[in-house]
Amino acid sequence: MSVTTVQTTCPYCGVGCGVNLSCSSNATNSTITPVTGDQQHPANFGRLCVKGSSLAQTITSDDRLIVPSVYGEASTWDNATDIISQKIQEVTTKYGPDAFAFYLSGQILTEDYYVANKLAKGYIGTANVDTNSRLCMASAVVGYKRAFGSDTVPCNYEDLECCDLLIMVGSNAAWTHPVLYQRIVAAKAQRPHMKVVVIDPRRTATCDIADLHLAITPGSDAAIFSYLLQATGKKGFLDQDFIASHTDGFDSALAQAKASTPDLSSAAKFCGVTEDDLALLCDWWCDTDKSVTFYSQGVNQSSSGVDKCNAIINCHLATGRLGKPGTGPFSITGQPNAMGGREVGGLANQLAAHMDFATLGAQDLVQRFWQAPNMATENGLKAVDMFQAMEEGKIKVIWIMSTNPMVSLPNTSQVKRALEKCELVIVSDIKAHTDTTKYADILLPATGWSEKDGTVTNSERRISRQRGLLSPLGEAKHDWQAICEVAKKLGHHDAFDYSGPHQIFAEHAALSAFENNGQRDFNIGAFQDITKTEYDALLPIQWPVTQSSPEGTARMFVDKHFFTPNGRAKFIPIEPKLPVANTTDQYPFTLNTGRVRDQWHTMTRTGDAASLSQHIAQPYVEIHPDDAKKHDICDKTLVKVYSAKGQTLLKAKVTEATAPGSLFVPIHWTQQFANASIVSALIPPVVDALSGQPESKHARAALEPIKNA
Ligand code: SF4
Repeated sequence: MSVTTVQTTCPYCGVGCGVNLSCSSNATNSTITPVTGDQQHPANFGRLCVKGSSLAQTITSDDRLIVPSVYGEASTWDNATDIISQKIQEVTTKYGPDAFAFYLSGQILTEDYYVANKLAKGYIGTANVDTNSRLCMASAVVGYKRAFGSDTVPCNYEDLECCDLLIMVGSNAAWTHPVLYQRIVAAKAQRPHMKVVVIDPRRTATCDIADLHLAITPGSDAAIFSYLLQATGKKGFLDQDFIASHTDGFDSALAQAKASTPDLSSAAKFCGVTEDDLALLCDWWCDTDKSVTFYSQGVNQSSSGVDKCNAIINCHLATGRLGKPGTGPFSITGQPNAMGGREVGGLANQLAAHMDFATLGAQDLVQRFWQAPNMATENGLKAVDMFQAMEEGKIKVIWIMSTNPMVSLPNTSQVKRALEKCELVIVSDIKAHTDTTKYADILLPATGWSEKDGTVTNSERRISRQRGLLSPLGEAKHDWQAICEVAKKLGHHDAFDYSGPHQIFAEHAALSAFENNGQRDFNIGAFQDITKTEYDALLPIQWPVTQSSPEGTARMFVDKHFFTPNGRAKFIPIEPKLPVANTTDQYPFTLNTGRVRDQWHTMTRTGDAASLSQHIAQPYVEIHPDDAKKHDICDKTLVKVYSAKGQTLLKAKVTEATAPGSLFVPIHWTQQFANASIVSALIPPVVDALSGQPESKHARAALEPIKNA
């Protein structure tokens, strides 16, 4: 019996835990053994959550896609990529480059993202490269850029353990980022003076460690931080030196905060919390220099998500609480490689290597680096707009990679119409059957987690290797290989002739440092000559990684230099706004959506692990007892939940965790797994105007019990 083990990275959430994946083999059999946490990985130091521990159960599946299929018939890679390249050529010649689009995923690796972005933006000439990460952290990206001049997460996970006040906003980390939560719980046990505040309309599992829970009116988060800003000033806790020396715009931000939340009473009323609770938070905030604000989808998935992020960042700038241990505004990403996608420019409003189309000289720089024949020159379409344009017939070919937009995007009836209208829908996936593969003209078999080789970046900017243990199943290929095959058939042989992911990573690193004199936040230039051996041995490391910081960078803005043109951070005046979808008599509830502990996204992988269904086996709708009584609903009553966009049938879960007037439905279950309509079908395509992130936490809805069910 021999045992082969690789150190790789969990493919689920943005914590990015290191895992040991092993295979035992004898003369006749090979068996994957249960994974264990990597004791050396700085994200988790050996810890795993239930999803991570169950990874071995999800590696094999009867539903693996193992050969390409073209219009429902098994085919060859050569034939499939011939059809794809010919169609791309045809539609881009006839209608222009924007007739093509990539819709990618925070599940794919940085190297996959890099070649997709390069092909679209440098060679086809379209910036229609967007991703399901748009649904997860796009608002945080814009918030950071507005404040810091760059999409730079200042903090790291140690800051969560050494802070004295941790404010968790719009995050049920106990379920969605469980290993971070475990680290926080352990830190709090060791440092009893550490306070945790949870700001969330729901009483979630995360509230178990909260010293204070502010169950705010849905969507009112920005007003909490607007009030904190003005109260910090009034109480004399501003860091005047930091404000004067390193920031711009404080006076106007403070004036707006005073105008929006003039006093405790008005702020508490707007947010639906008691004056005592808000005053207590304010006292703790003013008194605690080592404060971290930890925020996630509850902040980002909002029509004013960017403003909420900046309201948080304003408070940290006003107190100089960033760039020091135990401080900072810390956006936690949902997906394993949402950050890696941001690094390569895998969003429609980015160019490459953290440069935007509007970045001075960036288009020319990237064009020269890639020697690109057909550079895109302006932003492409963000996720919701992309599918809207497809429905209007403007996008003729879409290549969807490792994601399931028929479940995850809002307004799924429109997504369905768009996919039906599109002339060629290409789906790369590990599964033969998802809610989206039904609409594919061409299906390309992709390698799964245990077969993939490349890098991902977690929420604290830490680049980690995913290492393949198993050979690709059937004819599955890595996503970067599939893209390069098509690129070569489009005539771009030399630019896409990579011998392996290490070459792509080295090119990505070289672009990050190309002609920038170290002035860019995302710089991993130290890796531009990385060899395959070095790449294979790469240990987790936080960018930037340059000649002057070869060990990586634990914390940003230590030198108080920001990436704005004048090096100073910017305050943004914020006027708090409530969600677009106010309740009405017809739709009296606010519908909130989110994850449960043991499932991941649309269950295409976690749905294969029977043990993961033991926690929660079925979809449900949370409803407060007062509302349940009013509507004659008991626990487990079958109810119809509906909005102007769609409806679904769910079992009621009557609980005080959800506030009166609110409903909560998990996002995971689909027709495939529960014969239930998808909750995203109820969500209107309302987005933040700056980030394009959908307001998935706030739809107006109604419900009624199904009698005699
Ligand atoms: Fe995987 Fe996230 Fe769990 Fe870590 S916390 S094991 S990354 S799902």
